[in-house]
Amino acid sequence: MSYQVLARKWRPKSFATLVGQEHVVRALTHALDQNRLHHAYLFTGTRGVGKTTIARIMAKALNCQAGISSTPCGVCSACTEIDAGRFIDLLELDAASNTGIDNMREVLDNAQYAPTAGRFKVYLIDEVHMLSKPAFNSMLKTLEEPPEHLMFILATTDPQKIPVTVLSRCLQFNLKQMPQTHIVDHLSRVLEAEGVAFEPAALRHLAKGAAGSMRDALSLLDQAIAHGGGKVEDEGVRAMLGTVGDEHLFALLDGLLAQDVLAMLDVAKLMDARSLSFDGGLQELGTLFHRIALAQFAPEALLEEAERIRLAPYAQALDAEFLQLAYQIAIHGRDELSLAPDDYAGFVMTLLRLHAFRPERAGLAKATAGAAPKPAAAPAAVRQAPPAAPMPAARPQATVPPAVAAPVAAPVDEDWHALVARLPLNGMAKQLAQHCELSERTESAIRLRLSPVHKHLLGKPQQDKLQAELQAWHGRPLRLEIDVAEPASETPAARSRNVQRERQERAIASIEQDPFVRDVVDLFDASIDESTIKPV
Ligand SMILES: [Zn+2]
Repeated sequence: MSYQVLARKWRPKSFATLVGQEHVVRALTHALDQNRLHHAYLFTGTRGVGKTTIARIMAKALNCQAGISSTPCGVCSACTEIDAGRFIDLLELDAASNTGIDNMREVLDNAQYAPTAGRFKVYLIDEVHMLSKPAFNSMLKTLEEPPEHLMFILATTDPQKIPVTVLSRCLQFNLKQMPQTHIVDHLSRVLEAEGVAFEPAALRHLAKGAAGSMRDALSLLDQAIAHGGGKVEDEGVRAMLGTVGDEHLFALLDGLLAQDVLAMLDVAKLMDARSLSFDGGLQELGTLFHRIALAQFAPEALLEEAERIRLAPYAQALDAEFLQLAYQIAIHGRDELSLAPDDYAGFVMTLLRLHAFRPERAGLAKATAGAAPKPAAAPAAVRQAPPAAPMPAARPQATVPPAVAAPVAAPVDEDWHALVARLPLNGMAKQLAQHCELSERTESAIRLRLSPVHKHLLGKPQQDKLQAELQAWHGRPLRLEIDVAEPASETPAARSRNVQRERQERAIASIEQDPFVRDVVDLFDASIDESTIKPV
């Protein structure tokens, strides 16, 4: 007896056994049971999400000898022949290989004739977007006045390429990608029914490898069974998929924490020797950083107790901000692999980048390197401190810089600042007043100090002007004396420059922290021209 591949053997034969796509199933079941059928359905979605499977169940539902319903009997000749792929009134066409007008015309000419064996003639056209324009036109004519017995079921991965005139005559359903949990559940049901021993972790790797396609998941499962000699084990599956094992990932993480670049390089060499995928390695590393960040902020989001325990020491040892950065570095490292001289170099450069951007903290290495968390040691560490809080001890012991031993700054004379702002000065006189500091004020005189760098402001006209305005303000004659010496406090000019600089710095910081800007910078490797940033 020949071996039947799982994807075919386990292809769902009824809506009830179909995994996922509940929204489509509900609508179709309803239409079938109410006998409110459309002449053309369009199923869109990526490969392996169930487009042709649903189409075949539809064909059975329409042609079952027990009558039209959403629950075809599955035993009559129509049902069994459709399941076996040899029902005369179900025509499965692959537009990818039949794009010519002749083929289409031939097909559509036949569509005018009543079905031979069943109630409906069902045309299942896969990858329908590949049809030529004349072929679409010819189909359109049939769609405009479809014979009663005709049903078109169109499937495509690329609905954008279908002419609007055709689209508007179809009832469209978008099929979703299979969630990993659905795939894992389905694979375990299949294995239980097949009597094949398996490890659940292995199924998670397979589901991840299938990337949302149930058909791919079942094909991978076939391979895994063959590879494992009748068993599906975690290690065998990882070897088959080239998935990087946890032991490698945690060894990398320990190397990073211990600031041990050689240890990290050893892992890379080991992966190279075993031909493990570096792209997969970076992907796994990104996932790991994501899981650790979750362990920091929402440990309850990690459903498995074992994972919580495993990650807790890292959640404590790694800084929350660094985790964000590390995650970025890992996912961008993946992007850059295609540009790297080779995958190994690209991977190592990403590791070195992680090392280079590791927060500079003396306490960190000591805190974690010695007790590099091994699975066995982890539970003890967990009990010592709850995982939720980032480790404050690992934060830099920021020492407040000692007070500058510069000459004790004279208190700023706020009156002088206010006065300068109010005096109706302009031009050079205003500049002069703003760059001066008030050093002494008596009944008969005002004494200012001007920095030698601004000595050029000391022209007679502006001195006279300033003196006149000061006398007018005070309402009495005043002598104005200006000493050229370094001011001891902040002058009005210096203050406005500082304020301006702070505003500019804030503006730059807010631009740099803007998530959109950061994405753009990351995506396009752009840089910000700070001179173009203006505070608002
Ligand atoms: Zn039947």
